[in-house]
Amino acid sequence: MTTTTVTTSTTSTTLTAPTTATPSGTAVFDELESAVRTYCRRFPAVFTRASGHRMWDEDGREFLDFLSGAGALNYGHNPPAVRRALVDYLLADGPVHGLDLHTGAKRRFLERFQAVVLAPRGLAYRVQFTGPTGTNAIEAAFKVARRVTGRTDVVAFTGGFHGLSLGALAASATAFKRDAAGVPLGNVVRMPYEGFAGEDVDTIDHLTRMLDDPGSGISKPAAFVVETVQGEGGLATASPEWLRRLARVARERDILLIVDDIQAGCGRTGTFFSFEQAGITPDLVCLSKSISGYGLPMALLLVRPELDQLGPGEHSGTFRGNNLAFVTATACLDHWADPAFAAGLAERVRVLDGLLDDLALRFASLGCTPRGRGLIRGLGFTDPTLADRVSRAAFEAGLLVETSGAQGQVLKIMPPIVLAEDELARGITLLADVIDAVARKEENR
Ligand SMILES: *Cc1c(COP(=O)(O)O)cnc(C)c1O
Repeated sequence: MTTTTVTTSTTSTTLTAPTTATPSGTAVFDELESAVRTYCRRFPAVFTRASGHRMWDEDGREFLDFLSGAGALNYGHNPPAVRRALVDYLLADGPVHGLDLHTGAKRRFLERFQAVVLAPRGLAYRVQFTGPTGTNAIEAAFKVARRVTGRTDVVAFTGGFHGLSLGALAASATAFKRDAAGVPLGNVVRMPYEGFAGEDVDTIDHLTRMLDDPGSGISKPAAFVVETVQGEGGLATASPEWLRRLARVARERDILLIVDDIQAGCGRTGTFFSFEQAGITPDLVCLSKSISGYGLPMALLLVRPELDQLGPGEHSGTFRGNNLAFVTATACLDHWADPAFAAGLAERVRVLDGLLDDLALRFASLGCTPRGRGLIRGLGFTDPTLADRVSRAAFEAGLLVETSGAQGQVLKIMPPIVLAEDELARGITLLADVIDAVARKEENR
């Protein structure tokens, strides 16, 4: 167990100090915060400081963060250069809230995004700023697709996760989350993701047959929405070949292809977009989570210019101009202007691949199988309840790792994409010790 004592800043101490005789600890959360809270149940510490891949609780306990804000902290906590840009902007009284007014911060982001991300990849997209959550970018994508095609249905895949507002929830697969909607979820047709129906079933053939056979019972959809790696869906992945075939099926039938790159994008798979390896160009791309690079709320939809058919205000929202997020997003793009960054990222992917392969060998008797791709990874086990117990034991040992999949059956491993290789190795070694301890405990039961 790692217990490093740190001096927390006086400000945070003052802020967390109770003004009344309320006991400290977690009582206020238990009593006052809604029962819907979730991550804090798995990781019941009170965090007061974070830096890079580390977090500290109010007692000074240190945690290695391999949760990375579910993908919102690809560059780690409070990266110094980005924090500098943010503080400078604040001290200069830069506008913080801006509806969708033109601001200098937004202009710098757009110019930089064009120069560093879009142009070098030969991509021509318009940028639609949506409300600052991933689910709102998905709603916007569906709205655009329905407007452009005049059709209503969207094809989504088994294991997919696209957010929890009703339109996006209809496309999300997990029964538990869908059941919470309280109304029927409609206008989505579910198709099997790659591998869902077993290795012998070609799910693109199945999709094609369903689309083309007038006896299939489905009507022609407006769009396909797909994740290249299912971050919430147990880290299942689609192969480049499957994605290329999916893109072709869409193109040949005038169906739009939406890639939900909210979690797998912004460098997670080793390239800025997760679909680059497949060489496809989606019609619409949703980005959120790590686009601001600092954990600040921000989301956007990339739209092929000819599809940019919503009129002024048809998808508006108060918080589409989070200028602090534009500032941090722009600062993070500096990484992508540096060719050495991509090379370093590829190296870290290779290192993590090796570490997880070693882990799988060591725990072969537990059916330990690496999942995912790049730096969005997972471990499956024969016993579907093992991941949950490992995650909880890892917390006790000072490592934050969550679970993924409809039954939480996969241990999810998501270090910052900038993490030094020796720290990656340290985290995985710690994880291996935890798996070993949990497995032994089991044997002795
Ligand atoms: C997190 C996530 C969303 C939803 O984003 P929110 O900001 O939580 O609304 C949608 N799609 C994917 C793939 C995600 O990982």
